[in-house]
Amino acid sequence: MDVLEKKVVEAVEAVFPDLVRISSAIYDRPELGYEEREAAALLTDFLQDRGFEVEPGVGRVSTAFRASRGSSPAPSVAFLAEYDALPNLGHACGHNLIAAAGIGAGVALASVLPECGGCVRVIGTPAEEMHGGKIRLIEEGCFKGIDAALMFHPSVRNTVVKRTLAMTELRFAFHGKSSHAAAAPELGVNALDAMVLAFSGMNALRQQIPGDGRIHGIITRGGDAPNVIPAFTEARVAVRALERPVMENLIERVKGCIEGAARATGCTFEIETVGPAYEGLMPNRILASIFERKVEALGIPIDDPDPLGYIGSSDIGNVSRVVPAIHPELAICGFESLPHTSGFAVAARSERAETVMKTAAKALALTGLAVLRDVAVRERMAREFQCCRQEGESS
Ligand SMILES: [Zn+2]
Ligand SMILES: [Zn+2]
Repeated sequence: MDVLEKKVVEAVEAVFPDLVRISSAIYDRPELGYEEREAAALLTDFLQDRGFEVEPGVGRVSTAFRASRGSSPAPSVAFLAEYDALPNLGHACGHNLIAAAGIGAGVALASVLPECGGCVRVIGTPAEEMHGGKIRLIEEGCFKGIDAALMFHPSVRNTVVKRTLAMTELRFAFHGKSSHAAAAPELGVNALDAMVLAFSGMNALRQQIPGDGRIHGIITRGGDAPNVIPAFTEARVAVRALERPVMENLIERVKGCIEGAARATGCTFEIETVGPAYEGLMPNRILASIFERKVEALGIPIDDPDPLGYIGSSDIGNVSRVVPAIHPELAICGFESLPHTSGFAVAARSERAETVMKTAAKALALTGLAVLRDVAVRERMAREFQCCRQEGESS
């Protein structure tokens, strides 16, 4: 480690008690997406106290923020902080740790700004779990002028180049006609039959789709009473694939299942898209390899498991399509407690998690330092980004 790197690492150590305090406070008062007022206040107060210029409610999202420090606008590195929780499970995705690592990395990298130049930002990105908050921030231009967007996610494994799936959620409903289910069934039009047929169609469809495709959902309205032919049923399904064109093809085929079920039963139907579409993550390999070297030197070996194994979707995918980004995962527990379970929630407030969060903050800050002070890194990173984008467009 050279002098600047040592300074960055020591700066994380110096604020570590504050990071633990803030991570624990966010954990203890879980707030759902777009309601993270206390978390946003804790994070922005901390950054403001350390010389960051804070813009609360950036992108017209009241619980988002952008905090900046630097003498010149470019080059610019942004650390992303998530801080939303899950209904009933609290911080079972460990976003309290993401937030703490993000502000820790921001403050640490800012401590060497006089030597390396440029700009350090921390962007508070609400509502990752349910509403794709980062997508709104992208649309509002909050990621413009940023050379690299860096974050980590707590996990059950250590990996830096994993992918995520593009995802769209659909809500659909069938309208039929109610009737007495025993006395006059022939006068009814059964919206539940349409729903069952639609799910049967999707189940059959699953056998003929690419391996990375996912179609899954729930029936949210199935009728009101067993002795009444249901006149209205409703469901929500998510459709996913690694690449957006594949996902869009699957959406058309799902719509075919819904239309077919309506036609077979004599129902009418409606389909709408819920929220913005998530893009698949394209981790920037140049940034990923720097992060990997740094985190391994700090004592966390990267497992490099199958990048397509155990993957979900996240709005960081959309960020990775507009700016070079990484979203490495670091283990805070084993596979027996997967994210979005109560076991993972327990792990997210453990001593091990705090140590991992500290190491993540250091490795993120060191990766940011490489971007700010080395024009060759920025060029290689930008080339890789363009190359991936073209591949994505042509697939
Ligand atoms: Zn999650
Ligand atoms: Zn998460």
